[in-house]
Amino acid sequence: MTASNSSGDNIKGSSASNKRDSLASLLKTMGGDDCDRPACDDTKSALTAALRRVDRSPGVVPGGADVGDASSGRSAAAVPDSYRACPPTRDEIGASTWSLLHTMAAWYPNKPTREDKQLMSTFMMALARFYPCTWCASDFQNNVQLSPPRTETREDLCLWLCEQHNVVNGKLGKQLFNCTMNDLDERWRKSSSSKCQK
Ligand SMILES: Cc1cc2nc3c(=O)[nH]c(=O)nc-3n(C[C@H](O)[C@H](O)[C@H](O)COP(=O)(O)OP(=O)(O)OC[C@H]3O[C@@H](n4cnc5c(N)ncnc54)[C@H](O)[C@@H]3O)c2cc1C
Repeated sequence: MTASNSSGDNIKGSSASNKRDSLASLLKTMGGDDCDRPACDDTKSALTAALRRVDRSPGVVPGGADVGDASSGRSAAAVPDSYRACPPTRDEIGASTWSLLHTMAAWYPNKPTREDKQLMSTFMMALARFYPCTWCASDFQNNVQLSPPRTETREDLCLWLCEQHNVVNGKLGKQLFNCTMNDLDERWRKSSSSKCQK
């Protein structure tokens, strides 16, 4: 499944009802084992929202066939407020970046290929170079020099990242996270808490 599909806008050459059918069938395919990651919930929501947008577009009977020309489906749509939001602050970038990194680590292979390991190390080095808060980046570069990314296994990567995050937490006077696989998986992979069931 591709990102362009989830927007509901880029399914090539479709009439509105074909678009609807494609979205509906994509949504159906997301119930199985392939979709057991929490991040998949957002994809399901995006598909459901796209389906609703198509159903609302002129000439489409929800769940049915075209009754007119609804080929573009985007002409009169207002620009969502979020498209005009302010650039992120340092804390927003930080929290979003940690979310991405810990979630990537949580789903990193148990037995990565040599290429997986290389790419993950390069990714972390690139992050340290290009992280868009210059003094954070400079400290992170030093930290990564002292303790290079451990990419041999999923557990190695999760624990390394947790330690790196704790270095920053310590510097900022924040509470340290308990770096065990149980706690990390509970936070970043699959939570047992009912509040996290969607
Ligand atoms: C590489 C990097 C370097 C940074 N360097 C700086 C810096 O030098 N100065 C600065 O002011 N800010 C820095 N930041 C941002 C800073 O770390 C925080 O992201 C920011 O202060 C917002 O904090 P927060 O309270 O939202 O929680 P965050 O620290 O962003 O944490 C988000 C969530 O991660 C979980 N968590 C916390 N610690 C861990 C851990 N060790 N392992 C796993 N999960 C954990 C918690 O659930 C927490 O709510 C950096 C961010 C990154 C990604």
